[in-house]
Amino acid sequence: MDFKTLCIHGNEVKYDDTGSIIVPIFQTATFAHPGVGQSTGYDYSRVQNPTREHLEKTIARLESGFDAMAFSSGMAAITALMEMFSPGDHIIASDDLYGGSHRLFYNISAKNGLTFDLVNTSDVSQIESYIRPQTKALFIETPTNPMMQVTDIALVSRIAKSRNLLLIVDNTFLTPYFQKPIELGADIVIHSGTKYLGGHNDTLAGFLVVANDQLAERLRFIYKTTGACLSPFDSWLLIRGIKTLAVRMERQQENAYQLAQWLSRHSKVKKVYFVGLATHPDYEVSKRQSTGFGAMISFEVRDEETVKDVLERVALIQYAESLGGVESLITYPVMQTHADVPEEQREAKGINGRLLRLSVGLEAVEDLIADLEQALGV
Ligand SMILES: *Cc1c(COP(=O)(O)O)cnc(C)c1O
Repeated sequence: MDFKTLCIHGNEVKYDDTGSIIVPIFQTATFAHPGVGQSTGYDYSRVQNPTREHLEKTIARLESGFDAMAFSSGMAAITALMEMFSPGDHIIASDDLYGGSHRLFYNISAKNGLTFDLVNTSDVSQIESYIRPQTKALFIETPTNPMMQVTDIALVSRIAKSRNLLLIVDNTFLTPYFQKPIELGADIVIHSGTKYLGGHNDTLAGFLVVANDQLAERLRFIYKTTGACLSPFDSWLLIRGIKTLAVRMERQQENAYQLAQWLSRHSKVKKVYFVGLATHPDYEVSKRQSTGFGAMISFEVRDEETVKDVLERVALIQYAESLGGVESLITYPVMQTHADVPEEQREAKGINGRLLRLSVGLEAVEDLIADLEQALGV
């Protein structure tokens, strides 16, 4: 079945016989047992709930995974994932990482005895030089946030397999519509479902998708034990959001491409980071492993004054954290998503006080351009 059809029909199982086109919201905490030692297949909603199950099976199919677990946020998913590791374990991660993952690793996971090295995963020799006997996993984001660096997933997966490491890929920015890390060799895929999968800036959600039954068994145990599961109503909102994933991704990408080109020509803009521009250093790798470039743009303006102007003057585009929804949002990484990343680490990556990040939505691109034009000034 084609991806677009799968987004709409998902797991195709009917959970009742009313003829309802839409999967019902099973708003229940628990389920009655038909007899002693018997189960309807559902016992308690932390373990499984039909609405959530439909969502999870849909995501597993979209990502070509064996199983998927739906969490109450992306960070809840990554926190549960870290429970797979033991004190002393070492993880190599992308150095241009989502700020929340960075905060988790260095403030919570470190306290639990895990150690991390952050490297530029676009350069595989860097990854190899950091592998040691305690290394258990490679954790990559591609493209990265906010610098839009691309890692060659298939190449890194060969290193991971030869050294017996888990390859974990945060696929939030591209979604399975544009990129399927498990098909490229990843073991675990992470999503902040809050972003493109939900797509409407109205629900928090997270996912872990696993490639095989052993990982499913280990993570399902952690999932039911730690309990940060997605509620039936939020699961239903995600099911609804995913139905339009393919069309949203196409149109948002098209808008982003036009905006990136327009920004590249603007006199107050020094540099534009958008993977879909042929001038982007990772354009070729990206074309090889993904079917699209997404709709996230970072851009550096010539002076810090302009940042304040833009953030205070944008009217249609809103100055807010998050991304991936139908509404366009602009963020200031140094003050928002990356405030907890030490300044020297930030600066080294180019995340400076002149950098802005734009999540391009579904508005008419002419209106977005007009808004940025008046906000940037002349
Ligand atoms: C937002 C985000 C997360 C965290 O997800 P939440 O749903 O906000 O908890 C993780 N990774 C990436 C790349 C994100 O953009």
